[in-house]
Amino acid sequence: MANQYKRILLKLSGEALLGKQGHGIDGDILTLYADEIKSVHEEGIEISIVIGGGNIFRGVKGATEGMDRVQGDYMGMLATMINSMALQDALERKGVHTRLMSAIRMEEIAEPYIRRRAIRHLEKGRVIIFGAGTGNPYFTTDTAAALRAIEIESDVILKGTRVDGIYDSDPEKNTDAKKFDSISGDKVLDMRLDVMDLTAFTLCRENKTPIIVFDMNVPENFKKVVCTEEPVGTTVVWDEPENS
Ligand code: UDP
Repeated sequence: MANQYKRILLKLSGEALLGKQGHGIDGDILTLYADEIKSVHEEGIEISIVIGGGNIFRGVKGATEGMDRVQGDYMGMLATMINSMALQDALERKGVHTRLMSAIRMEEIAEPYIRRRAIRHLEKGRVIIFGAGTGNPYFTTDTAAALRAIEIESDVILKGTRVDGIYDSDPEKNTDAKKFDSISGDKVLDMRLDVMDLTAFTLCRENKTPIIVFDMNVPENFKKVVCTEEPVGTTVVWDEPENS
């Protein structure tokens, strides 16, 4: 298998971890993700991961219910640590060496995020999980994913979701919705398609970091995206796209 990428950043949403449950972490989904990540790791790919916290807490939601926004955002960042620790555990149980790096200091459970150290871990073949978002309120884990991907010079951001790519309209509401194999970032902006929040998207745009949106819940999909030329999901490109 010819590997397309050497170093990648995988962004998983907290909500994906819900699986069939109403809240918390679904053990089956966690195991599926750990298996998928392990099989890509075995291909010699350097993998870093950012995982959201939406299954546990979102700062914006707290604010709408009267909570102080900043307080809520810190709670959201701590929620990402719970998911990160769960994923770390699932990976380690499968024999994958990992390091959890936190943007908020909590040395008993995670290393502090230090860019050069993160790169060293990757070079040594450890899977890194970046927890606690950017460490700052008013941001999202999508922005943390874009920021870390750029800092560690990731070749691509892979956004693993529950949908199989980017459509011109909501496929759940419109049966004629068309899926893009590839789309330019500027078109995503023009059409106001919801790929990532604007802060995250702008960071990717300025640094020409490609983004691939794909369905992480289909077994082997992650490996196909990373290791083969098979068209899986939708790629957001910053130069002229092929078919959009
Ligand atoms: N958050 C934050 N700063 C960050 C990353 C996250 O304040 O850099 C907070 C924010 O409140 C957010 C919550 O953590 O709502 C959980 O992250 P997110 O909503 O991005 O998770 P996802 O949607 O991927 O599950």
